[in-house]
Amino acid sequence: MIALSLAEIAEVVGGQTHDIPDPSVQVTGPVVRDSREAGPGSLFVAFAGERVDGHDFAAQVVDAGAVAVLASRPVGVPAIVVADVQAALGALARHVVGRLGTTLVALTGSAGKTSTKDLIAQVLQRKAPTVFTPGSLNNEIGLPLTALTATEETKFLVLEMGARGIGHIRYLTGLTPPRVGLVLNVGSAHIGEFGGREQIAQAKGELVEALPPAEEGGAAILNADDPLVRAMASRTKAKVILFGESDEADVRAENVRLTDSGQPSFRLHTPSGASDVTMRLYGEHHVSNALAAAAVAHELGMSADEIATALSEAGSLSRWRMEVTERPDGVTVVNDAYNANPESMKAALRALAAMGKGRRTWAVLGKMAELGDEALAEHDAVGRLAVRLNVSKLVAVGGREAAWLQLGAYNEGSWGEESVHVSDAQAAVDLLRSQLRPGDVVLVKASRSVGLESVAQALLETG
Ligand code: ATP
Ligand code: MG
Repeated sequence: MIALSLAEIAEVVGGQTHDIPDPSVQVTGPVVRDSREAGPGSLFVAFAGERVDGHDFAAQVVDAGAVAVLASRPVGVPAIVVADVQAALGALARHVVGRLGTTLVALTGSAGKTSTKDLIAQVLQRKAPTVFTPGSLNNEIGLPLTALTATEETKFLVLEMGARGIGHIRYLTGLTPPRVGLVLNVGSAHIGEFGGREQIAQAKGELVEALPPAEEGGAAILNADDPLVRAMASRTKAKVILFGESDEADVRAENVRLTDSGQPSFRLHTPSGASDVTMRLYGEHHVSNALAAAAVAHELGMSADEIATALSEAGSLSRWRMEVTERPDGVTVVNDAYNANPESMKAALRALAAMGKGRRTWAVLGKMAELGDEALAEHDAVGRLAVRLNVSKLVAVGGREAAWLQLGAYNEGSWGEESVHVSDAQAAVDLLRSQLRPGDVVLVKASRSVGLESVAQALLETG
């Protein structure tokens, strides 16, 4: 973080200083919420959670070198006390990004935020120092903490924004007002909580409403292939840049194909030129993510060649997303267990089919959470797609939703042997251990709560 005195921080967050002998002492960063990360110069943000109360660690973090604690009550060590710690953290982030000359890029969408954010960061990094959300820290706490890691050197700040309801993105854009805003897609993630796709679009579109007008540099990057995203063009005063397969898109891919190893290859077209890309990431869904990243980079002044080179060399920065590992015996494990929704399930199955040409393929799948009334139909559709793509074996893991996956496969013409339903991850591991043969490709994927990464890990340990 840029250096700020305790007095200035107290003023920015509207807090009272307690037990602070010298308010001119500076916080030099980092700002942390995990007591174990506190060190010399840091500011510790004490949240009172259900199980752990950050205030209990106040003495410990000061021992470790923290300058002060941002707290909701006096804690006997130097503290800035506020009524609402989360609001104070947000106010501090807003103050800091306002002081920096950093260009803010924000992105949201139902699927692919983290993958795309990692791509954008790796592309922009080639041009100038870039700070970006680590992992998926995209909420009202993770976002300001990330923004606070920016320094005077930071040219680009790339922030993932998550929404679980109306008003969430508006809140986040209030903390870190973006100049460039990207909406990837409106799928069915969290549809159960939102109540429908229109509501999801309403919530995600708050990102483009928050952008400055075109005359002030505002740029809305929208997916031309997703009607609900495209329609957001009418909700912004920013310049609109479309990406996608559609002919109307400003940033497009031509000759899209998957290499035999399942990696997308295409010719990238931007308004400033064209160049060839072959990605290191797996799965055709990354074409859309790459185009989105290219559109952002184009807007920020990069050439098609620079962008194409960066995209071709970009790797995954966040784990358990299409993580491909080859075992010594020639079994390939594709760990995509980080999360799942209908769109990403289908994309992952198609990647599996491309990688598995001439090989036996296994789809070890579990439930997609939070689908509300659409749960049965969506699981059924995934089971059917597995059969249509000729996946050799479907292993559906878990309860009711797994049964729906298997039923879909059955209804699409699988006569039973190609699809099995097992109760839990351990049963899946036992089955795979006894049946895997050299050369097989295994995809492992389900919603976060299922924790299927344990299957991928077990397969790799015993390789
Ligand atoms: P979260 O809401 O959990 O933060 P996210 O939007 O950040 O998710 P990622 O973590 O990038 O998304 O990817 C989640 C899953 O979606 C992964 O399984 C990934 O393979 C898949 N995925 C990535 N990009 C797309 C896309 N454009 N369309 C569909 N699925 C995608
Ligand atoms: Mg994410």
